[in-house]
Amino acid sequence: MEPIPAADWRERTSQQLVRYEALFALLDDIQQSEDTAEICKRVAMRWKYFANVASWRLVLPGERGFRVIDCARGEASIRDVATLDAWDAHHLAARMPCLLRVAELVGSLLPPEHLLGKLVSEVQVLPLERLGQCVGLLSIAARHAPFNALDNRFIRTFGSYLTDRLASILLRQQAMEALVHKATRDALTGLLNRGTVIDQLRQQLAAARARTEPLSVILADIDFFKVINDTHGHLAGDQVLCEVARRLRAHTFEGDCLGRYGGEEFLFVLHPCDSAEVAQAGERLRRVIADTPIDVGGDLSHQIDVTLSLGTASTDGRSEIRLEELLKRADDALYRSKGSGRNRVTAG
Ligand code: GH3
Ligand code: MG
Ligand code: MG
Repeated sequence: MEPIPAADWRERTSQQLVRYEALFALLDDIQQSEDTAEICKRVAMRWKYFANVASWRLVLPGERGFRVIDCARGEASIRDVATLDAWDAHHLAARMPCLLRVAELVGSLLPPEHLLGKLVSEVQVLPLERLGQCVGLLSIAARHAPFNALDNRFIRTFGSYLTDRLASILLRQQAMEALVHKATRDALTGLLNRGTVIDQLRQQLAAARARTEPLSVILADIDFFKVINDTHGHLAGDQVLCEVARRLRAHTFEGDCLGRYGGEEFLFVLHPCDSAEVAQAGERLRRVIADTPIDVGGDLSHQIDVTLSLGTASTDGRSEIRLEELLKRADDALYRSKGSGRNRVTAG
């Protein structure tokens, strides 16, 4: 590690080395909070007291994307993004610490705008690695004068501590999200599982009743699915289920719920939605499946014509209706669709 020149210590002694108490309070805050926004807010307000920092960006690579934390003028903002801007992508790939003077940056790869304030003289880029993995990329701008050796030491130590803390919170959040996802999703289609879509129906039904709003459900069942399995094999059957689920999800309005209710049955919860609207929605969903054969093998001989039978049921939100009763009405309507020729929508 580079030695710190005596002049730096002298220059900083009166201003910074006396700030132990404030530093320990900040370290305690970082350690005790699980809230990334709160931690970043506190660091954004106080980092400048311990080193010559004007603004900074920390990028944390995650499982499915990146968390980008921007701090300037004592404020922090946090975003989760799928792709990085050119500056971050370049330095994350290079994994080389570097110091860039603002005057030399003109025309080359530019740092994020908030690191280029009027008084900024240089930007320090610090990739932070653990066990060969890059766990964070810190880009940090110097205020007024260039960073001195003491600033650099502080930035490395504190930046590393902050990155470890935020990365471990992110990791825990992602593990928790993965658990929730696993517990609430159907493994094959990725739709909500039966328990979760019924829970959603229970909640929406209570909300509809409280606000006197109409609510409708649709039960949709693939026609002759056993024949598809028997003719093309179980794997092709799985592909059909996934494609049906994908199309239905793509045509479900935001705010409405869709889940896999049983083997080849799907449940929609539409709220607010009355009996006229649900008839239209059911017809739209029927056509989304019936109008385009499903490709399970890549050549034309593997195009399978698939149809759905659907049953709907509605409540106007004015009278009490039990969840089981609403589902029973939709189920009875679905079986009337089956009985009258399949590939149709019946109101219950
Ligand atoms: P109907 O038109 O009356 O609904 O006839 P159907 O053949 O669709 O209905 P049936 O209830 O006789 O058969 C449903 C079949 O769905 C039987 C079951 O093996 C199959 N199935 C259920 N879950 C899955 C799954 O996850 N993958 C596959 N490939 N098949 C499944
Ligand atoms: Mg069926
Ligand atoms: Mg069925």
